[in-house]
Amino acid sequence: MPTIHRLPDLLINQIAAGEVVERPAAALKELLENSLDAGARALEVELQAGGIKQLKVTDDGSGIERDELALALSRHATSKIATLEDLERVATLGFRGEALASIAAVSHLTILSRTPECRHAWRLEAHGGQFGPPEPASGTTGTSVDVRDLYFNIPARRKFLRSEATELAHCDEAVRRAALARPDVAVALQHNSRAQLRLPRQAPAERVRAVLGDAFADALLPLDETSAGVRLWGFVAGPTFSRAARDLQYFFVNGRYVRDRLIAHAIRQAFHDVLHHERHPAYVLFLDIEPARVDVNVHPTKIEVRFRDPRAVHQLVFHALGRRLAQTRAGASAAANEPAPATFSRAPAPLAYALGAPRQGVISLPAREAEGFYQTLFGAPPQVPMPAALTSASEAPPLGFALAQLSGIYVLAQNQYGLVIVDMHAAHERIMYERLKAALDGNRVPTQQLLIPATLVAGGVEAAAVAECGDTLALLGFDMAPLSPTTVVVRAIPAPLQDADPVSLARDVLRELAEFGATRVLTERRDEMLATMACHAAVRANRTLTITEMNALLRDMEATERSGQCNHGRPTWTQISLAELDRLFLRGQ
Ligand code: ADP
Ligand code: MG
Repeated sequence: MPTIHRLPDLLINQIAAGEVVERPAAALKELLENSLDAGARALEVELQAGGIKQLKVTDDGSGIERDELALALSRHATSKIATLEDLERVATLGFRGEALASIAAVSHLTILSRTPECRHAWRLEAHGGQFGPPEPASGTTGTSVDVRDLYFNIPARRKFLRSEATELAHCDEAVRRAALARPDVAVALQHNSRAQLRLPRQAPAERVRAVLGDAFADALLPLDETSAGVRLWGFVAGPTFSRAARDLQYFFVNGRYVRDRLIAHAIRQAFHDVLHHERHPAYVLFLDIEPARVDVNVHPTKIEVRFRDPRAVHQLVFHALGRRLAQTRAGASAAANEPAPATFSRAPAPLAYALGAPRQGVISLPAREAEGFYQTLFGAPPQVPMPAALTSASEAPPLGFALAQLSGIYVLAQNQYGLVIVDMHAAHERIMYERLKAALDGNRVPTQQLLIPATLVAGGVEAAAVAECGDTLALLGFDMAPLSPTTVVVRAIPAPLQDADPVSLARDVLRELAEFGATRVLTERRDEMLATMACHAAVRANRTLTITEMNALLRDMEATERSGQCNHGRPTWTQISLAELDRLFLRGQ
């Protein structure tokens, strides 16, 4: 029977290493955090063989004194906290005092450091956790930690390391996270003596562009909101730049990269309305909060945190993002899309519409019929722009004036910057959806009596839903009644959807009610429900619109929140500038 005995320190450190530094990138993260905690303004990372052979971080921070070098490599030795009160308001990235001891226990580690007061540097070498006294060395102020042959003394562990390329990719990500967290710090990365990344100290937006690329940076919407002492700021990509993977999601709490379920949930909720459910939003966001209001001591690698007031944080993230995304109405960024001075240096072309709208692209309905069609489609009659008002293109509304319809799918329009192309079904669906939401938020969706009631054959549960959910159906703008156990009569449908096929519309709504129940349909399922309804009413492809109807659609888009994206997150419109058209025709070259 084995006796209970204390484990030697080295073994304790080796056990901890398995948790804290499971791979080179994890060791790198700890070294980067130490450098940032030491006030570094510049970081240099050198890797060999994906960090397995060598991992070296050099900084220009405060340095470590000779007599503290051995302590730095000892377990539970830290300069960052001293009491429980300190632990409850940690403002540094590290605080447990175990990273260097763990790394040193499983590698050949050399630490070289010089404080500003000292006239030279000191070096301490450790091999598998064993080290002698520090030796004088030459070096500038700051610290470099050089880690070689990670897990050389634990072959079983070393076998778990992946290919050089995989480990490099993880290290690269660790460097990118640090670089995004601290744009005010210069960052350089070398692999196998080749430069991979070299970033000067930068403004946050520039750093995001340098680290994550132009396509992402061009789609970014800046954000900055403070509520009850908590600040959320940073950048979120508009929904049209969504991703198939969760790879562009960076969230920092007090400069610490975290993956937090609460925050992920708040963000997903905020995007829920503008993003297809299989797509993922992209963002770089920073939450600055008093350290005492967040517990960072909940996970070995500190990637998770716990907020003392999770609700308040959830609300801030959800509402701040929601408000920012609501501003992406169509046309709102038309100017931002066209910064090219070329457009402004040439006189705006006279609007074709002002010269007598060319209708060759449109096979118009006869005028009277078109009026009626418009009424069913959009409700209130449009304010038709008077050609006289169009002598200056700059007075044109953001999405401009309609020119023609293409292929029964697209509306073409001209605005100040050039050509606007609108996906009419997508745009109309979004407008209908927002209208239904507004109506339901107000009180209830207005009802339109059907001239001839429609009957539908329904399954047992759907028919039962009619009897059970009469109030909910009324709120949604329906009047239905069971005729028999398997048939339902539809007497009225929501007024905004009066153009829809009542039978298939009613069937979809009943299916939803039967599956989720009235309460959920009006709460968590509400937006799906309204989106489904909007889809029934939206103008179908191959419907011919008149110029008047097209202009009404453009004006509705300008007035509708989130109309830059359809209900599935696809764009509803795009802009092709005159400069881009000129390039197509090689004009001015
Ligand atoms: P922790 O970061 O949790 O304190 P570490 O084991 O990572 O624990 O580091 C131990 C101590 O060594 C730190 O508290 C700090 O005082 C010192 N140290 C480590 N790296 C650096 C560095 N790059 N510059 C200055 N001091 C450092
Ligand atoms: Mg540390």
